[in-house]
Amino acid sequence: TTSRTPLIAGNWKMHQDHLQAIALVQKLAWTLQDAKHDHAAVEVAVFPPFTGLRSVQTLISAERFELRHGAQDVSEHDAGAHTGEVSAAMLAKLDCAYAIVGHSERRQDHGETDAIVGRKAAAALRHGVTPVICVGETAEDLEQHGASAVPVQQLRDVLAELPAAGEIVVAYEPVWAIGSGQAATADQAQQVCQALRQTLAEVRGDEAAAATRILYGGSVKSGNIAGFMREPDIDGALVGGASLDAAEFAAISRFQ
Ligand code: PEP
Repeated sequence: TTSRTPLIAGNWKMHQDHLQAIALVQKLAWTLQDAKHDHAAVEVAVFPPFTGLRSVQTLISAERFELRHGAQDVSEHDAGAHTGEVSAAMLAKLDCAYAIVGHSERRQDHGETDAIVGRKAAAALRHGVTPVICVGETAEDLEQHGASAVPVQQLRDVLAELPAAGEIVVAYEPVWAIGSGQAATADQAQQVCQALRQTLAEVRGDEAAAATRILYGGSVKSGNIAGFMREPDIDGALVGGASLDAAEFAAISRFQ
């Protein structure tokens, strides 16, 4: 009933130097190949640290792997005097299909606000890189406001910085579920993802909302992915820890 191609995205965080990145991509590609993975039916993408992107691009291109890759962050600026930043144009040159923006670790460690996250997403869009916009409530938010209020407001504030059109991906990642081993239930996650899709419809229209992929993230493993994927408003997963193990990540990509 949906034309949205599921996306299984592996956020490696600050793991895997460029040599380890090559080895992991190679192993993942072979594992998926052995499992006869249908890349047209389920898109699989990896997000190495910046230092791994060139090597990963070269390997994927040379071996014609159907895996896709993206960056974990992107600058809000197109170019210029911004020491330490990496532009969306540079990512596009490395064939990055995606850039994660607003991951909770960046919000926490680097004080990224929704306005900054929105400008980063806008920069990605200007260069043909699809932003994966992360939103999610902390344990404290959950207690005070319930699950949906904070992620919905974050998404509204990010969307306010974006042009009306252009492909985006939304990732709902409850902060309390990230790296904790304590995933949301499929039902909890569905409720928030439904509210996020409603927000997309209000801001960008019904058609865009129906076409936009919304991922769940937070302690996803091969043992719990199937439950999430059965939900109508969950179109994939953003996977941290479990994406560093090729066999486990391939199993998640099969929803098993
Ligand atoms: C993440 O970092 O986006 C994430 C979901 O991590 P984990 O799967 O390890 O909880």
